Amino acid sequence: MLVSSREMLVKAAQGKYAIGQFNINNLEWIRAILNAAQAEDAPVILGVTESACAYMGGLGTVKAMACGMAASLGVTIPVALHLDHAGYEMCLMAIGAGFTSVMFDGSKMPFAENLRLCRTLAQVCKENSVALEAELGSPAGEEDGISGSGERADPAQCGELAQAGITALAASIGNIHGEYPADWRGLDMSLLAQIKSAVDGLPLVLHGGSGVPEAMVKTAIENGIAKINVNTECQIAFAHALREYFEAGKDKAAKGYNLQRLLRPGLAAIEEVVRKKIRFFGSAKKC
Ligand SMILES: [Zn+2]
Repeated sequence: MLVSSREMLVKAAQGKYAIGQFNINNLEWIRAILNAAQAEDAPVILGVTESACAYMGGLGTVKAMACGMAASLGVTIPVALHLDHAGYEMCLMAIGAGFTSVMFDGSKMPFAENLRLCRTLAQVCKENSVALEAELGSPAGEEDGISGSGERADPAQCGELAQAGITALAASIGNIHGEYPADWRGLDMSLLAQIKSAVDGLPLVLHGGSGVPEAMVKTAIENGIAKINVNTECQIAFAHALREYFEAGKDKAAKGYNLQRLLRPGLAAIEEVVRKKIRFFGSAKKC
């Protein structure tokens, strides 16, 4: 059964560790992520972008796949199903379809409008036991059709939005969607500290968690980050494992063209990334 991410995030913020949100792209990804989280005894969030959701057949199909796979695998860890970077109407549809967490991305709207819509959605989420993530500022980079200017969050606005009934806040602090460039200047820890003191214990979210150096992630967790989104790193590990498989000519030997065989190394690679991240975020053995 899927649960709201509220409780796991509050516990993580209090315990100074972070829950991993791992984005899913098909049925096998759900399986790999759930297996990894179960093996680490870690609460986990399955994240879905609008574009991945459309690719997989829509909200209802994604919900059914996540629930069905969790039941088939007999997972006992808390699992939340989260819609990533969505508009207002899409959030309502996801709540109706049985998602247990939604991210309303009003970061490109005027602040007053973002705040107003967050307040309205927070009420709907509360009635349905769904967690609500809001966003301020806009991570640079591009991923799954989501792109941003790199504008940083304003701590005073973060404080105001934290009072709107939201569960968690993604505040842009120099983080980037997709791969980090070689000349990246790192996360703005002094801004994060200001935001942390403005939001009064509300769990903070780091988007673009792939490729952030480990020491920087540790400092960010100490400064209030309680949820870290990972997508790119799993995609690269998956693609790399499949490249090796094909380059070694394994698809041409011993029925290696069979889908179950040729996807296996990719899925093992995702499991390895997810287990490593979970241990590093500190969420292992936190069920
Ligand atoms: Zn994001």
